[in-house]
Amino acid sequence: MAVFSAIDFDQHEEVAFFCDNATGLKAIIAIHNTNRGPALGGCRMWPYADEQQAITDVLRLSRAMTYKAAMANLPLGGGKMVIIGDSHHDKTPELFRAIGRCVDQFNGRYIVGEDVGTSVEDMVAIRETTTHVVGLPGGSGDPSPFTAIGVYESIRSAVAYRLGKSSLKGLKVAVQGLGHVGYHLCKLLVEDGAALIVTDLDPMLVEKVVEEFKAMAVAPQDIYGGDVDIFAPCALGAIINDETIPQLKCKIIVGSANNQLESHAHGEILAKMKILYAPDYVVNAGGLIDVYYDGPAYNAEIVKIHVQGIHDTLLDVFKRAEERKVSTSEAADLIAEERFDKKSSL
Ligand code: NAD
Repeated sequence: MAVFSAIDFDQHEEVAFFCDNATGLKAIIAIHNTNRGPALGGCRMWPYADEQQAITDVLRLSRAMTYKAAMANLPLGGGKMVIIGDSHHDKTPELFRAIGRCVDQFNGRYIVGEDVGTSVEDMVAIRETTTHVVGLPGGSGDPSPFTAIGVYESIRSAVAYRLGKSSLKGLKVAVQGLGHVGYHLCKLLVEDGAALIVTDLDPMLVEKVVEEFKAMAVAPQDIYGGDVDIFAPCALGAIINDETIPQLKCKIIVGSANNQLESHAHGEILAKMKILYAPDYVVNAGGLIDVYYDGPAYNAEIVKIHVQGIHDTLLDVFKRAEERKVSTSEAADLIAEERFDKKSSL
């Protein structure tokens, strides 16, 4: 199995494998880059079909955290942990105490938090064996409202850049996914004068948003072709693909969902169609910023000001893309790489 030459390895500083027979733990911690600070990244628990899938996932996720932290102007690097296991059947407090011991070996160079398949209770068990953990009860709490603020500021930034407008009054936004982020986003958009077209798989969530914000609901498959100015994907990844792109009538795409482009090429197609795409990892960093400030001195106002900075960061991305004649995703990567000094090594 190739490691250093594997495409996803991409200059990782360190990748550590952990195995503990007593608890059944099988886990990997990947530290991509710590030039800007300790590597912060969640712990994902997933029943990977094979070990290669787990390795690929942890490498991609930790690399993405380096880029996200750099674009959010945080003194953090990128890292991630995956546990090979089923979060519905394989969780025990002993398992998470063992994870804490793994994390502790890095003496703060890696900081763990929640991710898919792990919860606040799991972080509490981890805290018994290491202090290098965030997302404990009594701290910053649910980061989604801050993620929504970041998405809203990103929409304002894209609207200013592409449409030359300073408010959303009279604009139409299609919101896909009305969960934790989508709901808060709808509120901010309506307060700024936007009209909403919305969808979700859960009819209760749709009903709530239709009632509260006078939104128009459409079936999930009809959200792409709506006659709107802005499309805000806040549900799943890979929804910008060969099937959906021909349906799009929007001028701008800005949303919280991770990995919205099915491939790099889809970003290039959007650029050719003059649809302004705001790179997701820049847009959705509000949650990470919130987690960074977690702790006894937590101050929501300071977090909000930091998150609002995403507005100007995104303007820099749009300008760089135009100057260099590259896609906005490529422009964001270039800025992030300058910020975390990709060329320098350990
Ligand atoms: P959530 O699970 O609360 O909400 C997602 C919603 O999308 C659900 O209500 C679900 O029913 C809906 N959905 C799923 N598939 C759909 C489809 N095909 N069509 C329409 N609706 C569909 O999740 P969330 O916390 O609101 O996060 C939304 C997205 O933003 C996710 O991709 C997440 O990874 C990303 N994100 C969230 C945060 C955060 O702070 N919560 C931070 C960064 C990124």
